[in-house]
Amino acid sequence: MTYVVTDNCIKCKFMDCVEVCPVDCFYEGDNMLVIHPDECIDCGVCEPECPAEAIKPDTEPGLDKWLKVNTQYAELWPNITIKRDPPADAEKYDGETGKFEKYFSAEPGQGD
Ligand code: SF4
Ligand code: SF4
Repeated sequence: MTYVVTDNCIKCKFMDCVEVCPVDCFYEGDNMLVIHPDECIDCGVCEPECPAEAIKPDTEPGLDKWLKVNTQYAELWPNITIKRDPPADAEKYDGETGKFEKYFSAEPGQGD
């Protein structure tokens, strides 16, 4: 198994997760992060750190799409281990549904 980042990270990107991960397996896109499933050691430390509750174990039902998104983009986006400020309008998007369809960007983030 692995943990995966899901819909509510999009446009929130608070980044509290990246500093607690013992194996530095978060990767940064333009408006969300993903976890590299082959690097994640399933420690679960990041899950309660995410203010947006966007991190889930992939053993939860219905997360196949997110496992694919995390797997695909962890190979393409730069590694991120140091927290930066979240987007100024992050709170506005927290909890909105269907963010992937509306806002997902395949562009890479800046990384560390
Ligand atoms: S803490 Fe949550 S919302 Fe913030 S970047 Fe990490 S997964 Fe995304
Ligand atoms: S579960 Fe542990 S290893 Fe996996 S991304 Fe979260 S903090 Fe990192």
